[in-house]
Amino acid sequence: MDLNFSPEELAFRQEVREFVATSLPADIQHKVLNGLVLHSEDYIRWQKILHAKGWGGSGWRKEFGGTGWSAGQQYIFEEELAAAGAPRMVPFGLKMVAPVIMQYGSPAQQERFLPKILAADEWWCQGYSEPGSGSDLASVKTRAVLEGDHYVVNGQKTWTTQGQYADWIFCLVRTDTEVKPQRGISFLLIDMKTPGITVRPIITMDGAHEVNEVWFENVRVPVENRVGEENAGWTYAKFLLGHERTNIAGIGIAKREIARLKRIATLETKNGKPLIKDPMFASRIAQVEIDLTALEITNLRVLSAEAAHRAPGPEASILKIKGTEIQQAITELLVQAVGTYALPLRREAMAAGYQGDAVGPFYATPLAANYLNMRKLSIYGGSNEIQKNIISQMILGL
Ligand SMILES: Cc1cc2nc3c(=O)[nH]c(=O)nc-3n(C[C@H](O)[C@H](O)[C@H](O)COP(=O)(O)OP(=O)(O)OC[C@H]3O[C@@H](n4cnc5c(N)ncnc54)[C@H](O)[C@@H]3O)c2cc1C
Repeated sequence: MDLNFSPEELAFRQEVREFVATSLPADIQHKVLNGLVLHSEDYIRWQKILHAKGWGGSGWRKEFGGTGWSAGQQYIFEEELAAAGAPRMVPFGLKMVAPVIMQYGSPAQQERFLPKILAADEWWCQGYSEPGSGSDLASVKTRAVLEGDHYVVNGQKTWTTQGQYADWIFCLVRTDTEVKPQRGISFLLIDMKTPGITVRPIITMDGAHEVNEVWFENVRVPVENRVGEENAGWTYAKFLLGHERTNIAGIGIAKREIARLKRIATLETKNGKPLIKDPMFASRIAQVEIDLTALEITNLRVLSAEAAHRAPGPEASILKIKGTEIQQAITELLVQAVGTYALPLRREAMAAGYQGDAVGPFYATPLAANYLNMRKLSIYGGSNEIQKNIISQMILGL
């Protein structure tokens, strides 16, 4: 096992760093580095810049217009982007439905959907969860009944991230109620403009409109928009969930946020001295950094195993749990660093270019909202309790 980057990988890192330094728009970078509100246009603009460079599909195979990069290169790429303050790539098209279409979609589906995902011409959202079907995903109830050459879909999805922008939604739907739950699910690609679809906002505790309910009432979906076989959707659903292995730990983002924490702790004071000199606070920052270093080594071990063509296994669960715990711990320390100035939740002041009254220093404004928003990390993508179940069964053999 070799945990060092090769000379080629180091040269690649330099190439990525130089490209991002010259190509990442300053206004987008400003928002990311300061935790301000990003709009869908920001994500789309950045993806189009990457696409123009030929780097739009960092995890895609070359035959579909991707880079064909190794797992190590993808890791370096995302780490450099995060460090520079690039927006996180919206995963639903690029990292979720695209791999499924590449693996199981028909040539017509590949031709129709993949180029528009790569070019950020179409925005996707994920229609997996339902009320009562989150961790227990196989129990989805949204019904699709075949009538001629269309499925008629009725039901409700929930927690649909950025569904308000989406052109398309990929959905798990029930096509057979008589069999074991996993055997009666199909995977549909649904145009969000189809009559009968209603998107209703869910406002989260940070005041953001990030997630939605999506309702389906007699929504007619052409049968050619089913991926693969009818009732085999559970296989594709699991493939999708297991696909995004690298960068699940969010190491690059955590490093960037620790740098921000240190900047703020240098500006804040305690007993007349910079907060960062306070032994208690400094030791808490150090603890997070130690945890992050340990996680980074674990992540590199996983990458090294992937390079040796061993499929990543349940260790992805370790990366998810520790990575999300670290990111949440950083948001806690950020709030504690500014104390009472973090208390007001003022979303209007989180817009770039806000000119209104300030409560406390500029950098304090988004910290409470960021803290509240990041609670989601241990819930979605398979909750951390579910990841612990996987570790107990697959690693500990309990
Ligand atoms: C901000 C946000 C964005 C999301 N975006 C999307 C999206 O775009 N598309 C989408 O489809 N879904 C999305 N989700 C849904 C997410 O995948 C689910 O919330 C998640 O799977 C948990 O399901 P649940 O909320 O139904 O909770 P439940 O499954 O009801 O779980 C409730 C609690 O019980 C625990 N629990 C459940 N089962 C077990 C078990 N067997 N052992 C131990 N503990 C257990 C859970 O860990 C949790 O703490 C999003 C969620 C959030 C919070």
